[in-house]
Amino acid sequence: MDPRASLSILLLLVGISLAKPVRPGSPAFLSIPGNVDITTKFLETNKGSSEHLMEGDLVFPKTKNALYCLNNNCFWNKNTSNLVEVPYILSSEYSSTDISVIQNAMSTFHNKTCIRFVPRLNQTDYISIENKDGCYSYLGRIGGKQVVSLKRTGCVYHGIIQHELNHALGFYHEHTRSDRDKYVKINWEYIPTDKASNFQIQKTNNQNTTYDYSSVMHYGKTAFTTQAGKNTITPIPDATVTIGQRQDMSKLDILRINELYGCVGWTNSLLRQISDCQDQLGEHDMSYIFQKQNTNNQDTPYDYGSIMHYGRTAFSIQPGLETITPIPDGTLEIGQMQGMSDTDILRINKLYGC
Ligand SMILES: [Zn+2]
Repeated sequence: MDPRASLSILLLLVGISLAKPVRPGSPAFLSIPGNVDITTKFLETNKGSSEHLMEGDLVFPKTKNALYCLNNNCFWNKNTSNLVEVPYILSSEYSSTDISVIQNAMSTFHNKTCIRFVPRLNQTDYISIENKDGCYSYLGRIGGKQVVSLKRTGCVYHGIIQHELNHALGFYHEHTRSDRDKYVKINWEYIPTDKASNFQIQKTNNQNTTYDYSSVMHYGKTAFTTQAGKNTITPIPDATVTIGQRQDMSKLDILRINELYGCVGWTNSLLRQISDCQDQLGEHDMSYIFQKQNTNNQDTPYDYGSIMHYGRTAFSIQPGLETITPIPDGTLEIGQMQGMSDTDILRINKLYGC
């Protein structure tokens, strides 16, 4: 059996309405509205930017490759408590809501890694988070003040903030990592010549982590495409794999930060927490669970009362928000766990010719 199928069944048994853990401070967890992936969103926002941006949202680095830099001088330093401090200041142009969304995105780093974004006192090197003309960042620590631009309209979203902060920590885009050709195919025919550099492979240190389609640092399928609907990046061998998610850092994103910065204890405790089940599913790419399957419906009607039906909020990333809504009557009950429905029983009998 397809391991994903068996996992789905396992999950179903574990709890029909299994929802993702609620993120801390969920009111400040702001997702990008509509069906837009992270790349599409920031590339759209960055169209008017006057900065020279590499890969769409990286300010041209004055330093060398961040993940391979001399004497580690493009990374942030640890304090005496073994925590990596990244001092920051925030533009006064942000509203209190903006600030809580930004700080909530930072808190993910604080909860899962040894990175600490701390309000700047008098530190020499710091990031200045500003409402400039796009979403972009330098790569790694460049020394002195460095701007992370989070335009109020278009960039103040949980996943985009994390994405830009990850650049400031020294991370490239996932699709440019050194071994990417084994995992994605770049469709150069749909990439404008002047944007081709955005897809060039970088000499990256992949820290023995597998290629991560669900990384918050991965571009979406149609990034920079010249033709609407044509993919510039196609996952291989399974072209249907979701890439370019915009919700939150993946487990591997977090693991890499911990590895790169030598967060003692964090990596191990995180690894222990990853159940086999979640590990195989990938924390954020749950979308395939909802993909239609080629099923034999045995001439039975769709059964809202089936014991095989997910609940309304299964895998929801926001408490109370439904991932499945019955139509046309949104009030119908779905996802019961009491017992097999008449139709469930009928199907067994039909399938096995009882
Ligand atoms: Zn980026």
